[in-house]
Amino acid sequence: MDNQPPSSLLPMDIALDRLREALLPITESELSPLEYILGRTLAEPVVAPINVPPSDNSAMDGYAVHIDIAAAPGTQWHVIGTALAGAPWEGTIQSGECVRITTGAMLPDNANTVVIEEDVSLDGDTITLQETLVQGEHVRPAGDDVVKGDVVLASGKTLGVADIGLLAAMGIAEAEVIRPLRIALFATGDELKEPGATLKPGQIYESNRVALTHLLKSLPVEITNLGILPDDPKLLRETFLAAADSHDIVISTGGVSVGDADYTREILQEIGDIAFWKLAIKPGKPVAFGRLNNAWFFGLPGNPVSALVTAHQILLPAIRYMAGQDWHEPFRLKAVATKTFRKKPGRMDFQRAILTRNHQGDWEAEPTSGQGSHMLLSFTQANGYAVIPAESGDIPIGSEVTVVPFGAELLG
Ligand code: AMP
Ligand code: MG
Repeated sequence: MDNQPPSSLLPMDIALDRLREALLPITESELSPLEYILGRTLAEPVVAPINVPPSDNSAMDGYAVHIDIAAAPGTQWHVIGTALAGAPWEGTIQSGECVRITTGAMLPDNANTVVIEEDVSLDGDTITLQETLVQGEHVRPAGDDVVKGDVVLASGKTLGVADIGLLAAMGIAEAEVIRPLRIALFATGDELKEPGATLKPGQIYESNRVALTHLLKSLPVEITNLGILPDDPKLLRETFLAAADSHDIVISTGGVSVGDADYTREILQEIGDIAFWKLAIKPGKPVAFGRLNNAWFFGLPGNPVSALVTAHQILLPAIRYMAGQDWHEPFRLKAVATKTFRKKPGRMDFQRAILTRNHQGDWEAEPTSGQGSHMLLSFTQANGYAVIPAESGDIPIGSEVTVVPFGAELLG
């Protein structure tokens, strides 16, 4: 793996390329009930075990009849029974006979068409057609949706809501999916305390683990929370090594810059193999990524905004890729700046922004009040990023700016 020279900052696109080249999707799979497979990757193709629908049935409430090609207004049938959804009418209709039928009820033998209630007049046990009726109308034939034996979901598909509904519709209760990624997560810093505890002077509350855990929640992961670690190189080394033994990915926050108590990078360099550790992005310059025995590590920055942004931009695509999903380019839009975005050339900015649509339906964007990498409050006011290229300076009012709306992973 390429080691990064200390003075250089790696551009974001190169960092993402390196990630993709380095990572290998997981292939181990497990049989999992439908309840647990949203967002997971199908490990083998799904072949339809039955036709869906399983039998010809009615798309409407009406009367099941048999006609050749078409029937003209005035045609009459004698009502000889009722077919309900789940309670078929057993028997064969003869010429001149019909069966009252509800939506979803199986068609009686020899019926091939449903005339809807609104198109007939009922007089005693006889219905009279008021409109022209064409053969096959309002019938959902067996296999109309899914044909038995067809491959309906390909191996490698990320299972969405409709996929899971379809599996259930075919009577399938479990699917073979890629196993979840095992992730270890810890925060580092002598100053950090659990929320709920009392702070002594110089201490702050630890907010990265809970935010990151929620950020990753929609992904196929199992997270081991290893707590808060002090800035103690020996303990950090032991924790990294132990976590790498039993996890696919080890994530730490803090200690990756070059301060006195920033041991993370040093340790990873010593016991692992760093692919990059300084990115040309803001916030989030110090991000260490690389290999540690059989695991990957992500040493995220300590500042809460930097930790979230780098996790969102780098860790999430990496996890998705390892979980067998396609590598997606982020969905980006053009917006017009309604306030100046302040920026110095050099790094790619992910500024927290408020995105709105104006009366013409065009997107507008303004930066949130604070862009400091410690400012979570302003993050809470944002609904997207303005992504400003490295070489760009200020984006003045009225100029175009590229934006990425936050997804459910950030907004909940
Ligand atoms: P570091 O990356 O360790 O140099 O930390 C950078 C800044 O982020 C410092 O001001 C830390 O106090 C703060 N910080 C580090 N980790 C956390 C955390 N888990 N939660 C909140 N703030 C943190
Ligand atoms: Mg620290």
